[in-house]
Amino acid sequence: MNHCAKKLIAWYDDHHRHLPWRETRNIYHTWVCEVMSQQTTLAVVIPKFSDFVKHIPTVYDLAAGDEEKLRQLWSGLGYYARARNLKKGAQFIVEQRDGHFPQSYREWLEIPGCGPYTAAVIASISFNEKVACVDGNVVRVVSRLLALSKDVWSSSGQSAIRAYVDGMIPDERPGDFNQAMMELGATICRKTKPLCHLCPLQQQCLAFAGNCIESCPPKKPRRDTVDVELYALVVWRTTTDAIAIVDRTKGFLSNTVGFPLLGEIEASEVKTVLKSLQQLQVFELPSKFSHVITHHRISVSLLVVQEVYDLSMTNAIAPWSTLGFSQPFHWIASSVIASKLSTSLDNKVFKLFQNYKPHINS
Ligand code: SF4
Repeated sequence: MNHCAKKLIAWYDDHHRHLPWRETRNIYHTWVCEVMSQQTTLAVVIPKFSDFVKHIPTVYDLAAGDEEKLRQLWSGLGYYARARNLKKGAQFIVEQRDGHFPQSYREWLEIPGCGPYTAAVIASISFNEKVACVDGNVVRVVSRLLALSKDVWSSSGQSAIRAYVDGMIPDERPGDFNQAMMELGATICRKTKPLCHLCPLQQQCLAFAGNCIESCPPKKPRRDTVDVELYALVVWRTTTDAIAIVDRTKGFLSNTVGFPLLGEIEASEVKTVLKSLQQLQVFELPSKFSHVITHHRISVSLLVVQEVYDLSMTNAIAPWSTLGFSQPFHWIASSVIASKLSTSLDNKVFKLFQNYKPHINS
């Protein structure tokens, strides 16, 4: 084992955080926690992980489990598409592999929804395979070790970092080495105010020696922001105090559950049609809100449609299917709808609607 790897693993042995999934060699647990941890902080993941594996303890339970339960257990973690992919992966393992987990990096890459990073984490931790895990923390550590202040984020820059980590991984304990690199980035070599005096690699760090930590790695080039106008349709069945939500299978926020979303032109067409129907009252709320998703700056308006009479109880033809909504509406009691929504945008829509509800009623 090279000198750096030895120091790093020794530091990891003494200082790593005790996390529930590190106390076990259960492959299913490693997989679930890795998917949960992507883009979500550990403080949020830890209680959610314990709850998840308590209620969905095996890959068979995940493959056969119902969507509703999955959504509830995932709520608060965000990016619900990850949960759907996890379930798809579980179904693949149960149906195509008889419930046997893949045993190598290459095999994990065949699992639906499993990318190179997740495959590398599982293969190195669970099977001691010598394959580098390069996440944002590792990029930061390597950039500083090598004093890289440019060309880190391009594909050639990322390949160079991966090659460097590949060269560092020891034959013994490659999984612990990967975890140590990520842990060092998360707890010591932090984005701001790194704790260099506690770092096991300080003597090898060129950025520390050259006093240029601040500029390593360089800032990620920002993608141009795209402005988007969206209308969230809140269809409210007054007689039962139920609200319609849909499974969004395509378009913006695909693979999530929430209010039907319409573009500007679509919304204006829908508004005209709905206003012509006597059973409905349609109005646009006076205030809107802004929401940012990656490089999209979204301005969200609410189009509230109040079903004054219960269309399902009359001979009237419910207009929804004729308006181009490809997915059926699910009618959910407004008292429990918050638990069904899978994005923060939908939560904001519901909050705004609730604020206006008393005025709508009157
Ligand atoms: S010495 Fe400081 S900047 Fe260098 S790797 Fe360690 S924590 Fe990061």
